[in-house]
Amino acid sequence: HSGFVSIVGRPNVGKSTLMNHMIGQKIAIMSDKAQTTRNKIQGVYTTDQAQIVFIDTPGIHKPKSKLGDFMMKVAQSTLKEVDAVLFLIDASQGLGAGDRFIIDQLQQVQTPVFLVLNKIDQVHPDELLPLIATYKDLYDFAEIVPISALHGNNVQTLLDQILKYI
Ligand code: GDP
Ligand code: MG
Repeated sequence: HSGFVSIVGRPNVGKSTLMNHMIGQKIAIMSDKAQTTRNKIQGVYTTDQAQIVFIDTPGIHKPKSKLGDFMMKVAQSTLKEVDAVLFLIDASQGLGAGDRFIIDQLQQVQTPVFLVLNKIDQVHPDELLPLIATYKDLYDFAEIVPISALHGNNVQTLLDQILKYI
């Protein structure tokens, strides 16, 4: 298995924490340098079975800034070029304007999008299904995976699900 995956989500939802946990000791690249004008490689997960390149998508992380048409197109073309998109949310916060902004951009692409509900260690189990239902109303997600990036809960399951798409 080999492919490209983009992680998108509001600030503070846990994108960096998830990257660190997935890559862990298997780190190959962790760079702040832009690899191209468009995409930034956040890290590469490599095992005997798989290589997953995680990339940042500039433009989709800044719901509060004014984005020009150009940045929108750049973000959307990145999302089109990857094999899967991980849309990370903070399950302890619920749906906000920042999430809606990202979902609007995801509507423009055909790439499979995962709904990854992070910080489930801070959510009462009874609250999880209604939260998932709220998001499912807005988008037809390829997979829905609740995790705790900080504690590592279900992160291996997430990796296994990604391998189905690359
Ligand atoms: P990013 O801005 O999306 O990259 O978010 P970070 O990875 O920097 O995480 C933001 C904050 O959320 C940090 O204080 C993390 O420790 C915390 N965080 C990330 N994942 C979890 C989680 O699964 N559970 C809890 N309780 N906190 C988390
Ligand atoms: Mg970060």
